[in-house]
Amino acid sequence: MILKNIKNIHSGPEHLMKRYISAILLIIITVGGVVGESSKAQDLKPTVILISLDGFRWDYLDKFSPPTLNRLAKNGVRAKWMIPSFPTKTFPNHYTVVTGLYPQNHGIVENSVYDFGTTLTMSKREEVQNGRWWLGEPIWVTAEKQGQRAASIFWPGSEARISGITPTDWLVYNGDMPNTLRIDRVLALLDRPATTRPTLITTYFSHTDDVGHAFGPDAEETKYSVHEVDTYIERLMAGLKKRGIDNRVNVIITSDHGMANVDVRKVTFLDDHFDTEALTERIIWTSEIIQIFPKPGKLEEIYAKVKDLPHTTCWKKGEIPARLNYNDGPRVAPLICSSELGWMTNNHEWYDPWFKRLDAPERPRGAHGYDNKYQEMQATFIAHGPAFKKGFTAEPFENVEVYNIMCRILNLTPAKNDGDLSRVKAMLR
Ligand SMILES: [Zn+2]
Repeated sequence: MILKNIKNIHSGPEHLMKRYISAILLIIITVGGVVGESSKAQDLKPTVILISLDGFRWDYLDKFSPPTLNRLAKNGVRAKWMIPSFPTKTFPNHYTVVTGLYPQNHGIVENSVYDFGTTLTMSKREEVQNGRWWLGEPIWVTAEKQGQRAASIFWPGSEARISGITPTDWLVYNGDMPNTLRIDRVLALLDRPATTRPTLITTYFSHTDDVGHAFGPDAEETKYSVHEVDTYIERLMAGLKKRGIDNRVNVIITSDHGMANVDVRKVTFLDDHFDTEALTERIIWTSEIIQIFPKPGKLEEIYAKVKDLPHTTCWKKGEIPARLNYNDGPRVAPLICSSELGWMTNNHEWYDPWFKRLDAPERPRGAHGYDNKYQEMQATFIAHGPAFKKGFTAEPFENVEVYNIMCRILNLTPAKNDGDLSRVKAMLR
């Protein structure tokens, strides 16, 4: 604004003095700004910004070369990939990242969860905000309990009172909030005085997942979504730099799961194999993982019909492979079916009208939620800042480890969790 005014002043003796005064004012303001920024950097406590890029597959960094994310990885830490928890869905894995607990232990065993005689779904606001669903202790509760302030510009669980606590600042999820505004709100939180400035800030971007579902992980559309998300991170880093704290704040970028190509014509219909109405209390369907709650005494009858399906693996609770850490949760359904990568499992009632409405059913689309053994399901972990080594590539690790990393940086005593800092501490300085 001031510069513009100087330019607009016509040269002439009567304007010369004004021009000099404006120039001097500009210098004073600039110097004042620098002083303000350096004092902010002085009183900055150890700080973590935790960012989720939904559906950002582990190999998008190399496959699509987003410049800012690659720069952060190069100047910080990058995992070869991060192993998501089973099932590789959004809600379970976001909540694992912030609690260090497997879904069986934190209770969010799927995007839709059955308990209390009702179902938690992402769109049921009153249940999402009800603390009864969210077990364990998310990092923001750990921070608030131990005298720090946390803020969330979105994260699954952040809207609920968990052990009676929410982050000091939180928002009701609204996917329509522009992504650049989310970044600017994160930056504004850091502009607060030290007494009210959060040490932990979470934020979330769904864009890469949305586009990945619509077009598949190999599509040019997905490449563009990766580059768009990269500009948000660029905006964040530029804002931190402007404040003189780009090397003082720890930025941890994670994704919840990867993305696989799916051919929607490859489908297994469970209702072709057993009477879903007669034999079950309820079935919670997605096309990748199915939660089956049989009527009393009907479990074996159903299991006999589905145990040998070619493209869907069904397990009775208790017989789920130990590597999936999914047998022990009280909310895990008595029978689980998990689709083979790239396949769908569903029923005619849902699938037939859905398929009819699809444009070009032969073109690839994207899906996740499969067994976490598949490479396509692997997630991203990038970390940059004073706590992290520079140019360090970490061997693959499970996403239960992130909670302990954050606790260490923030000098917090972690709650009981399934991670083990010794497995990942090599990335820390
Ligand atoms: Zn997701």
